[in-house]
Amino acid sequence: MARGLVKNLILPSLLLLLLFSLGCSQNDLFGPANITIIQPSPGHCQYSVTPAYFQTLENLNTMSGKVGRVLHSSKNLDKDSDTLRTGYGLKPVDTEFFNSGKSFVPANLDSLFAASLYYSIEVGYLLTKQLDPSIDLAAIIPNFSDTRIIHRAIRSSDPIRNRKEISDNAEYLSVRTSSSLINYFFSYPTEEVKEIPLGLNMGIMNHEFSHLVFQHLFYEPGIKRNMEIGASKPTTHSLAALDEGLSDYFGFLATQDPGYFLCSFPQENRDLAHPKYFTHSVISRIESSSDDYFDSHEGGAVFASIQYEIGQNLSNHQLVGQSLLKLMSNLLTCSSTVSGNTLNFNFADVARCHLGILSTDSRAQQMARQIYQKYLGSYGMNL
Ligand SMILES: [Zn+2]
Repeated sequence: MARGLVKNLILPSLLLLLLFSLGCSQNDLFGPANITIIQPSPGHCQYSVTPAYFQTLENLNTMSGKVGRVLHSSKNLDKDSDTLRTGYGLKPVDTEFFNSGKSFVPANLDSLFAASLYYSIEVGYLLTKQLDPSIDLAAIIPNFSDTRIIHRAIRSSDPIRNRKEISDNAEYLSVRTSSSLINYFFSYPTEEVKEIPLGLNMGIMNHEFSHLVFQHLFYEPGIKRNMEIGASKPTTHSLAALDEGLSDYFGFLATQDPGYFLCSFPQENRDLAHPKYFTHSVISRIESSSDDYFDSHEGGAVFASIQYEIGQNLSNHQLVGQSLLKLMSNLLTCSSTVSGNTLNFNFADVARCHLGILSTDSRAQQMARQIYQKYLGSYGMNL
């Protein structure tokens, strides 16, 4: 079914272009370029086959440019613990494009996937810069163009126990070497997902991109400053849930569809337009010292819905997005979240830090405070 969707959308256009093709180029093709991909169009889960302008792409054949490169390996990347550090065995995807005159059209599914993956990461990069021009990830991350976007990644869910290979998922992973941090995005094979494959879901890939942004605006500067995570508050769980919540919101910003997650997983409670609360049980799972019942996506989804409602009520998601990028780095300096070099916070403290950022706009701050108080449960008292 997943492939059915791709076929229904892409094959008619491809057949047409095959008939009238101006020829297939095997020579190196250089970007920036227009490439026809499957991309979101206005509406819930609406995707169309249309040309997109790839402004950071340098080489179409290797799908590489300023924001990274698309790679594939037919081997299980977890077989050898060093593979991700060395990148050994990762090769460019065998891409092929037809030049329609107006755009380059992928000649097969692998080329379509590779181009769509690169485009998703480019959208995330440009969106971040557009929200806050001082955040140019290509300047912040020295090896940004070495970001590895893995198409049809083969990895084990639990390599030690030889568990089955991961499918129907996407992931951001940072791999530390002695000299650098290598950024990976994985798009795993589609098995059960019946709708939009995750690698083609612009919202989900931008959810993953937001994890990279958080890594480089929060975790990396925190590590450089020798920050520690204290134990007097549920900081580790709150951080994990916040990371997921920010990601859910930035996935929405990239698509303008608050229900983008449902385009791949229709049953999940991840529609940002559906209000959610920090109920007593959600809070107790965040505050639990055990990981057994804790799912970072649960509190994250509540946080994302709060941000969505703030943006809707202000008719200004741009402002919310800007403030959340600031929140990522300000967690390291806010008086409510850090003392000395120790981070200690729950979601009430995160909300206080966020309200501080919004203090330059009293209407936005007032609106955000009301919405936090409405949904934060016991965390919303005394805000
Ligand atoms: Zn995530």
